[in-house]
Formats: sequence, structure tokens, C-alpha cells
Amino acid sequence: MKNERIILEERPKGMPDDSNFKFEEIPTPEPKEGEVSLRTLYLSVDPYMRGRMNAGKSYVAPFEVGKAISGGAVAEVTESNHPGFSKGDMVLGNLDWQRYSKADGNHLRKIDPNAIPVTAALGAAGMPGITAYFGLLDIGKPQEGETVVVSGAAGAVGTVVGQIAKLKGCRVVGIAGSEEKITYITEELGFDAGINYKTTDDMNQVLKDTCPDGVDIYYDNVGGEISDAVMRRINKYARIVICGQIALYNLEKPDYGPRVQVQLIQKSALMKGFTVGDYQDRQKEAASALGKWISEGKITYRENIVEGFENTLKAFFGLFHGENIGKQLVKVAESSR
Ligand code: NAP
Repeated sequence: MKNERIILEERPKGMPDDSNFKFEEIPTPEPKEGEVSLRTLYLSVDPYMRGRMNAGKSYVAPFEVGKAISGGAVAEVTESNHPGFSKGDMVLGNLDWQRYSKADGNHLRKIDPNAIPVTAALGAAGMPGITAYFGLLDIGKPQEGETVVVSGAAGAVGTVVGQIAKLKGCRVVGIAGSEEKITYITEELGFDAGINYKTTDDMNQVLKDTCPDGVDIYYDNVGGEISDAVMRRINKYARIVICGQIALYNLEKPDYGPRVQVQLIQKSALMKGFTVGDYQDRQKEAASALGKWISEGKITYRENIVEGFENTLKAFFGLFHGENIGKQLVKVAESSR
């Protein structure tokens, strides 16, 4: 069994590329008492990982140079020294970008492949879905008839935000970067309107046209100029949910957009950042609501699955070029089931 991992070779400056990483052959680790051996099936590549590649302190520790990149993954147990797991079990965990690994069984969660496709545990029913759920419902507090604008609308988080907002009776406008994405969110997901920010010359005008009653909730996944434009349309008592700022993640120097404090005062608006980790103790609530909506067909999702461990970096870089519709995953191996 050839084992391989991807390490951070050097911290990227600006947009990351292959030279910042290295594939390394390593022995397959032996599980100790309480541990299980794992074969990675799916790796999740996520925008937040870019922040962890920088040296600075953030809400999660930075990746270490010379060590493996890690993140959400679905794996199959190949050998177990933990009473809670048997060979063949499917698990969700935070694993190294590695073909074969071992992990403390206490840090893994068993997933039932008969309940929901295992990949959903990394997408709509997992971290991105839970992020959408709490950001929108807990901070956005949508009311029937309100207008919700979501940026990054065709991605893992944005697609779930828009669909939950529709379930709450809101008018939903999504902002995304291609016609295919706009067709997907409006025709398949039921968003009321979509804005392709890459082909729109006048964001202010298009936002006026698509949000004639202004914006009550802005769910911000991207930041930058898109958000500057949305902020000009907020209503009195608007809620601005700061979930992500992907447009800024690869900047080498911080950029300063229009300062929004005056708009917040004038509109008595709330702007709040959060991380999904803030809701650690309420994960079950979100997981069960999302699972129910998915099984009832009220929330649907797409996945963009890149085949092969050797294409993991390509899949990760693709997030910053808008190559994914829905959750971006890497399929590393077939399940033996
Ligand atoms: P995603 O939306 O599935 O993928 C990233 C998307 O961002 C791309 O497909 C691309 O779509 C868009 N994008 C990339 N560069 C952009 C730019 N310069 N300007 C505008 N859009 C750009 O990713 P996700 O996992 O759902 O994450 C969405 C956001 O939420 C990210 O900012 C992420 O960091 C954040 N997030 C936050 C938390 C939290 O706990 N706060 C948790 C999960 C995710 P287009 O084609 O539309 O450009």
C-alpha cells in the first residue's frame, strides 16, 4: 500500500500554487490502543484553509511548515483498536491530507451511509450546512417577506443559506460568478434572482433592480467590492452576517473598502462575524434540522467531486477561481462496501 501525504512546504504569498506544497511518501501508521486505521475516501477542501497557511494567529492554529495539511474528511476504518469502531465503518474526522492514516477513535464520528450519502457529511449536512444554518437563523433572524442577499451564492454555504431563507418565506437574491451558477440557484434552488458579478458593470443598479425593497439581511461569504455594493442597499434594522471574506484571503496587503460604520448608524443595522465553532454545543440542532430538510427534499445540494488524491491541490486552488458549484470535494478512494 503506497501511502502519501501533502505537506505545506512554504507559506504562500498571495494566491497559493503547487510550489507551496509537497507530496511525500510515508509509511502507513500502525494504530495503538484506542486508535483506528483509516483509508481516506473523501477530502474536503475549504476556503478557510488558506488562512491557516499564513503564519498569523487566527481562530484556528496555523498549519505548520513541513507538516501535513489537514481538514474535514470521510474515511473507512480498515483496522480498529477502539471499542466503538469496527472494520468497514465510515467515519467523519479532521484528518491529514493523506491516503492512509490513523486516528484516536474518540475524535471520530461514525456516519451511517444508509441515512444520507457520506459526502453530505462534509457539505450540506456537515460543516458548511451548519455554518449556513446558524449564521442565517441565529444572526440574520429572517422574517417572512424580508429580502436576503447572499454572496458566494452557488457554493457550499451559500446554496444552503438561500434555501433556508426561502423556507423562512424570504425573497432571496444570490450573487455568484457565472451564468451556470445563476441558472442553478434560480431554476433549481428557487432563489428569486441572481446576479453574475463577473458580467455586471453596475452592481449598484442591479442591486436596486433585484432588491426594490432594499436588503434586510446580507449573508456575506466574499467581502470586497461585492459587499461594498450590497451595504449601500441595506434597510433600517438590517442584519449583516459576516461568514467569509474569500475575496480578501489571497491579498498580500490588507485593503480598505468604503467604511461602513456610518451606514450602520444610519440604518441601526447589526453587523456580526462568527465562526461555526461558536455553535459547537448546538451542532445536533443544526444537523437534525438539515438532515430532515434534505431527506424531505426541501434542501438539495450539488457536489463538485475531483477524482484522485493527486488532484487535491487543484481542487483547493479551484475554490479561488470559482470552479465549484456546491461543495468541493476530492475523491481519494472507493469504499470497500
Ligand atoms: P464555496 O462558496 O463553495 O467556494 C468558494 C467560492 O467563492 C468559489 O466557488 C467562488 O464562486 C467564490 N469566490 C472565490 N473568489 C472570489 C472572489 N475574489 N470574489 C467573489 N467570490 C469569490 O466555499 P464555502 O465553503 O461555501 O465557503 C464560503 C465562504 O464562507 C468562504 O469565505 C469561507 O471562508 C466561509 N466560511 C466561513 C465559516 C465560518 O465558520 N465563519 C465556515 C465555512 C465557510 P464564484 O464563481 O461565485 O466567484
